[in-house]
Amino acid sequence: MFYNSTRNSNVRVTSAEAIARGISSDGGLFVPETIPELSLDEIVSLGGMSYAERAAFVFSKYLTDFTEAEIRLCTESAYNTKNFETESIAELAHLFDGTYMLELWHGPTCAFKDMALQILPYFLTTSAKKMKLDKKIVILVATSGDTGKAALEGFRDVEGTSILVFYPEDGVSAMQKRQMKTQEGDNVGVCALKGNFDDCQNGVKAIFTDSDVKEQLDKNGMMFSSANSINWGRLVPQIVYYISAYAELVKDGDINAGEKINIVVPTGNFGNILAACYAKHMGVPVNKLICASNINNVLTDFINTGVYDRNRRFYATVSPSMDILISSNLERLLYLMTDRNDAVIREWFGKLASEGRYEVTDEVKKKIQDEFCAGFCNDDETKTVIHDIFEKYSYVCDTHTAVAVKVYNDYKASTGDTTRTIIASTASPYKFSPAVLEALEGKASDIDEYSKAYRLAELSGSKMPSALADLKNKPERFCDVIDKTEQKNYVLSQLGI
Ligand SMILES: *Cc1c(COP(=O)(O)O)cnc(C)c1O
Repeated sequence: MFYNSTRNSNVRVTSAEAIARGISSDGGLFVPETIPELSLDEIVSLGGMSYAERAAFVFSKYLTDFTEAEIRLCTESAYNTKNFETESIAELAHLFDGTYMLELWHGPTCAFKDMALQILPYFLTTSAKKMKLDKKIVILVATSGDTGKAALEGFRDVEGTSILVFYPEDGVSAMQKRQMKTQEGDNVGVCALKGNFDDCQNGVKAIFTDSDVKEQLDKNGMMFSSANSINWGRLVPQIVYYISAYAELVKDGDINAGEKINIVVPTGNFGNILAACYAKHMGVPVNKLICASNINNVLTDFINTGVYDRNRRFYATVSPSMDILISSNLERLLYLMTDRNDAVIREWFGKLASEGRYEVTDEVKKKIQDEFCAGFCNDDETKTVIHDIFEKYSYVCDTHTAVAVKVYNDYKASTGDTTRTIIASTASPYKFSPAVLEALEGKASDIDEYSKAYRLAELSGSKMPSALADLKNKPERFCDVIDKTEQKNYVLSQLGI
C-alpha cells in the first residue's frame, strides 16, 4: 500500500514516510492509493477479538510496510487498561431504542483524541526507525484545549521523542489548563502564550518552517514532526472503532450481519467523520453518515449546497472543539469524491486560500449527498438536549455529543428513517462541567469549576473520571507565560540548544 498527496497524485510514499512527514511538501494530505476492502465475514469475525487485535487487523491492511510484530507492539502499547478505563477501550452504550452511543472518551484525557494520540507516538517512532532517520522527534503543538493534552499524554516518556505544547493563556477552560499545567513525564513541556489560539498556531508554524531552527535541530540530531489531524497516523486509528462497533452490534445480536447502520459524528476538522466514511468504503454496511455541527455551520452549508465559504462570523460556543471554519480533512474526502483529481483539488484549495471560498461541481455534490447528511444546532438547543436525555434515560452526555444527538433527532423527524444508529460520543461530560451542569439545573451557578464537576457527579449519579478527579491534588509543574515574540527562543532553550 502506497500513499499519494491530494495535491499531486504522482507523489507516492510508504505509510512510514507519510506518518513521519505528516504533510506532503506540496501542501497536500497523504491518502492511501486504494481503500482496502474487507468481507462481511472478516468484519463480523472481529467480534471475537480484543480491541487491540481488531486494530492490528485493520492496520495490517494500511501499514503494509510495518511488520506484524511492529504493529502488535504499537497496538498493545496503546490499547490496554493501563491507558483506558474500560476493557472494551471504545465502549458501546445501548441507550435508546436502536440508538447506540460509541463512547470514545475512556482514555487518559477524556476526549476521543486519545483513541489516535495514544498510538501515534508508537507509529511515529516505528516509522522513524524504518526510515533510518535516527533522530529525536520533537513534537510542537498549538492547542485550544483537547489536542494538546491528548498529545502530551500520548508522547509522555516515549523514548526518542519530546513534546512542547503552547496554549493561549486566556483561551482554554480551567479544567483544560489544569490538565496541562500538571502534566507528568520527563520529555514534556507546556507554556502559556499571551495571545489567542491563532497566535499560538502562527508561531508554531513559523518555527516549523524556520530554516535557522531546522539547521540547529539537525546539528543536534533532532527533527520536528506533527501530531495534528492532518497526519495519516491520526486518521487510521479512528477507522478502527467504527468497524469494531459494527462487529460488536452483530455479536450482541442488535443487528443482523449485513444490516445497514447510520453513523452520526459531531464534527470540526472532519477527521472523525472521514474515518467513518473510510470504514464504509472498506465494507461496513452504512446507510447515511450524518455530519453534525454547532452554529459554526460551514460544513452543513457545504454538504447542502456544494459551496464552501469560510467568510462568515466565527462564534465561540459551548462545544469549543467544533468551533472551526476550515475543516482540513475535507480535502481527503474531495480527493476521493473526484476520483483522485489532484488538479481540481489544487484549484479548489487554492481558492480557499486566496478567496476563502470554493464551489464543487453538481456531480461531486450529488456524490457527497448520496453518502452524507448534515445539520447543526445552537447552544440553547445543545443544552436542552443534554437536559432531555438525562430526564429520559438518566444518561449525561457532553456538549459536543449533544450536538450530534440533536442533529440526529432532527434527521429522524424529517426522514422517518429508523435504521439503527451509532452516535460518536466524543468527550466526557466532566470536561465541560459548567455547560453540562447549567443544562441539567436550568441555570448557571458561580461556584468554581471543580465544585461544578462534583455537583455534576452528585446530581447525575455518574462518576467523574479518575484522570480528572486526580488532577485536583497534583502539583502544577508548568507555569511559564511568555510573549509571542519569545516563542522561538523558548523552544530552542527548552530543547537545550
Ligand atoms: C476534536 C473534537 C471534535 C471534532 O472532531 P474532528 O475530527 O475535528 O471533526 C468533536 N468533539 C470533541 C470533544 C473534540 O475534541
